[in-house]
Amino acid sequence: MGGFLVTDSTHHDIADRALAVASPLRIVVLGGGSAGWLVAGYLATLGRQSSVRQLTVTLVESDTIARIGVGEATVPSIRGTLSLLGLREEDFINEADATYKQAIEFVGWSTGTDEDAFFHPFDKRPVAIPDTSLHRWLNSDRAIRWDHYISPQSRLCSKNYSPKADAPWPDYASPLPYAYHMDADGFGHSLRQHFAQNGVNHIVATVKHVELEPVSGNITSLQTEDGQEIAGDLFIDCSGMRGQLIDKTLGVGYQSLSDKLLCDRAVALRVPLTADEAQRPYTRSVAMSSGWRWEIPLRSRLGTGYVYSSAHCSREAAEQDLRAQLGARADGVPARHLSFDVGYREAFWSRNVIAMGMAGGFIEPLESTAIYLVEAAASLLCTMLPQGPHHTVFAQHFNRSMSQLYEEVTDFVNFHYVMSNRQDTDFWRDASDPARATENVRGLMALWLEKPPTVFDFPYPFRLFSPQSYEHILFGMKTSYPCGMTVNARLCEPLPETEKAVKEGLAGFLPTNRALAGFRTKGEPEHA
Ligand SMILES: Cc1cc2nc3c(=O)[nH]c(=O)nc-3n(C[C@H](O)[C@H](O)[C@H](O)COP(=O)(O)OP(=O)(O)OC[C@H]3O[C@@H](n4cnc5c(N)ncnc54)[C@H](O)[C@@H]3O)c2cc1C
Repeated sequence: MGGFLVTDSTHHDIADRALAVASPLRIVVLGGGSAGWLVAGYLATLGRQSSVRQLTVTLVESDTIARIGVGEATVPSIRGTLSLLGLREEDFINEADATYKQAIEFVGWSTGTDEDAFFHPFDKRPVAIPDTSLHRWLNSDRAIRWDHYISPQSRLCSKNYSPKADAPWPDYASPLPYAYHMDADGFGHSLRQHFAQNGVNHIVATVKHVELEPVSGNITSLQTEDGQEIAGDLFIDCSGMRGQLIDKTLGVGYQSLSDKLLCDRAVALRVPLTADEAQRPYTRSVAMSSGWRWEIPLRSRLGTGYVYSSAHCSREAAEQDLRAQLGARADGVPARHLSFDVGYREAFWSRNVIAMGMAGGFIEPLESTAIYLVEAAASLLCTMLPQGPHHTVFAQHFNRSMSQLYEEVTDFVNFHYVMSNRQDTDFWRDASDPARATENVRGLMALWLEKPPTVFDFPYPFRLFSPQSYEHILFGMKTSYPCGMTVNARLCEPLPETEKAVKEGLAGFLPTNRALAGFRTKGEPEHA
């Protein structure tokens, strides 16, 4: 007989699959923080469109186990996500107390002096090979700040201009890339409002027991304190740092990155905005003696917190330092203390459980990447919704892809520390020690001693942080990093493309951030 041999097991596979495809795939999401609702929303919209099987999506959340309640800055991918999920931008902005973000300003990271500040903006210039703009800057006295030389957006940020024009731009569109600052609870609320009525079965209950299938070790159902049994085929663990399913039930280990990133604690405060802060269309990251402080202006308040290393600073000293920076407006405001393990799961997908959000891992929030990693995980899952029980190959692919994304973020965050010139405290000496650089960062630093950064320096194409992001940190921290050329006497001339784009922005079509976000105060000019 010609052709290939069909084995019994393949017969069974096909039969199993046919049976499985006929019945709906029951997906249960445990956890109602930003991660749980984002994933449930993805599955209820994109998942349903891309699956050959019918899906049911159930989200279980406790009303007695608190959400983490921090997580206030995002990256531009969030606009695509919210648009895809069908949320109106104005509704989201109102519900999440949101403002526009178009950069992070790093203050005091390079040397700790007063002039020490630079932006990491979202705009990117077209990729050019050879990159003559970069070459011209490198082959000069580099007297113009790199961010101001190359990025119109950082210049507009310095003047507090909004990324979004006055003209009626459609939801989520604008001449400049942007993301949001938002209240974490408001964001969760906005998603809950929308999806509890649009395709997600919502159960408020605390899971106290997990039922496992004895042979496969797969989870079959969650049992709640009030006696409900929630059965499923696939379980998404978004239960936050406790990792109720991935850790407490399946015992999947955690790969710590604490030797590369030293910060493991945070203390957070919510205080009234100053007039200056209310204008800013960007996050600020201000270096402190044992870490850094975030400043995130929302419409109604400032979210701020000190991310620090517990090996270098006590809880009490951290709170005291933070309060000292904020002055009287922090008096009487309660502080929240948080601890976290930097790292990620040895397997995000194990048996029929997939961990996302804090349950999957956490890299310190310096570049606002946690929600992005949830978006990535959810959209990745939607591309490979299992059609039957035979999803080993998907699990492997998912685990490999997610590890790569976490490693990418780790490299970039690590790069900020090892590029710093600060040697003024034990923390900065430890954190900037070249021996602490990740292997990839070590490779890049060696390469860029000899030649400028290019797209060819990065191993895989799907990245959040492009070479341009690296350039902002590299030249923001170490203006004279060689890249194969020495700083010389040639005058650094402004770049015509940047000057033109800034002029157009300043011509008045971009209002101030504060005005656009809808909280124009009496007498405040519309245009700076
Ligand atoms: C200091 C700090 C700053 C951060 N800043 C940023 C930032 O700027 N940008 C960013 O993107 N991210 C940031 N993050 C991360 C961000 O907070 C989280 O990634 C995000 O909020 C998602 O959290 P989560 O949904 O995974 O967990 P959580 O919000 O903790 O939600 C867990 C959910 O699981 C439920 N749950 C747990 N156990 C059970 C049970 N047994 N039964 C039923 N329900 C259960 C809880 O009730 C809750 O609903 C920051 C984190 C920290 C620590």
